[in-house]
Amino acid sequence: MSVADVQNRQWRKFDPYIVPVDKNAVENILRPLDLSDDDYHTVMQSMLDQMERGLGAATNDTAPIKMYPTYVRAVPDGTESGEFLALDLGGTNFRVLLVTLKGQEVKMDSKIFLIPQHIMLGSGKHLFDHIAECIYRFVKEHNLMERKLPLGFTFSFPCRQKGLARAMLTTWTKGFKCEGVEGHDIVALLHEAITRRGDLNVECLAVINDTVGALMSCAHTDRKCAVGIILGTGSNACYIEKLEKVEMAEGNEPGPPEMLINTEWGAFGDDGSLDFITTDFDRQVDKHSINAGKQRYEKFISGMYMGEIVRLALEKLRKNGLLFGGEGSYHMATRGRFYTKYVSEVESDDTDSFPMTKQIFQELEIETVTDQDCRLVRHVCALVSRRAAFLSSAGVACILNKMKRPEVTVAVDGSLYRFHPHFHDLMMEKTRVLAPGIRYKFMLSEDGSGKGAALVAAVANRILAEQKAKGNPETSSAV
Ligand code: ADP
Ligand code: MG
Repeated sequence: MSVADVQNRQWRKFDPYIVPVDKNAVENILRPLDLSDDDYHTVMQSMLDQMERGLGAATNDTAPIKMYPTYVRAVPDGTESGEFLALDLGGTNFRVLLVTLKGQEVKMDSKIFLIPQHIMLGSGKHLFDHIAECIYRFVKEHNLMERKLPLGFTFSFPCRQKGLARAMLTTWTKGFKCEGVEGHDIVALLHEAITRRGDLNVECLAVINDTVGALMSCAHTDRKCAVGIILGTGSNACYIEKLEKVEMAEGNEPGPPEMLINTEWGAFGDDGSLDFITTDFDRQVDKHSINAGKQRYEKFISGMYMGEIVRLALEKLRKNGLLFGGEGSYHMATRGRFYTKYVSEVESDDTDSFPMTKQIFQELEIETVTDQDCRLVRHVCALVSRRAAFLSSAGVACILNKMKRPEVTVAVDGSLYRFHPHFHDLMMEKTRVLAPGIRYKFMLSEDGSGKGAALVAAVANRILAEQKAKGNPETSSAV
């Protein structure tokens, strides 16, 4: 018998809460997850206030939504060409990519490298040495050692940028916590690691966020694309703002009168403004996260947390004898063990016999799962997903109403949006209600983090070459 089996048995023996199923009791537990349109409107108003505060130089300091200038001033025009390296850090996988641009043609070759937990939670030096090592292995494998390649870095953590290739990490999120990086320029740290090795001929020309990558990548084919959002491990958004509103940007580079803003909307609510919709489940998720009190909006929405919210709701129902006849398991009592992908599987399941749902709970070692249990589990998943999708819609609608463009394409990246069976439809439905009169569509960004970084690096490289030709070797910060 395994350790888990032993723990399972002891655990079941002590379960004290077996009572008959009661619809009202179920409702009482789940009602806080069901929000009204009034609630979503309140959320939007409060998000708009915080965004305006984030943009203003006098108010940015105390604003939870930081609205970071990205120094990206224009979307691609389709003439970008050449070979570029791209890095994608800030998600589940770390990737190095070789991107070949030639008009609308984009070729990508990429390799995933693992970032082990001890590096995610270790020193910054160790992290950047590891990244440089991965670049080296990739470059070597692709026989690129002899060439000097421009690199675009998709770094999906909140950064205060001072230019296209100067980005100070504000705070780690999503499970990363490397010492000695917060407050530092990550491009400098990367270049130091590259210099320490001495065998790499690579220069990082631009740092972007994955939201910017998604937007740029979709804008390459759709000129109406003006918003990018991420619904993956975390959640974030960027959009095109009028330059005159971007009070926090430094310098005065020539270029179009617009700039992409990386909202970092995940931090919305960190001042308590979302407390009115926060349930006990959300409070527990936050309390046990490595960034308690932070990224409150993100924790309602994204893949890193949704499964856990569902698990906590299921556990509460179970402890009240309303699910699985009160039977628990070691797995179901384990934090993070109910993955967000299960939520997608449950909601995609056949509603007559629930084969996938039963399979999931078999893996989680719940022995008796009735069809009624499966229906209730599905209901819980649907409630949590709906709230997440509608809150994301509230964010998108807030930006669309603020931009006032008659027609906008919203680029979306992230596995939650990509793989959840209803997320797209739910977002379409609620955005229509919350942003009436605006024509919009959601467009899945295909590999925005790689292609977007290469596109921004391409434009930066072109400007750099133009300046060198003019005899001014200064690095431009405007794309
Ligand atoms: P990242 O945001 O880290 O770049 P992804 O976009 O792949 O990476 O998002 C990863 C997140 O997506 C994980 O938190 C995971 O829980 C969630 N996820 C993965 N597969 C699914 C799925 N089938 N349905 C819903 N969420 C999923
Ligand atoms: Mg990603």
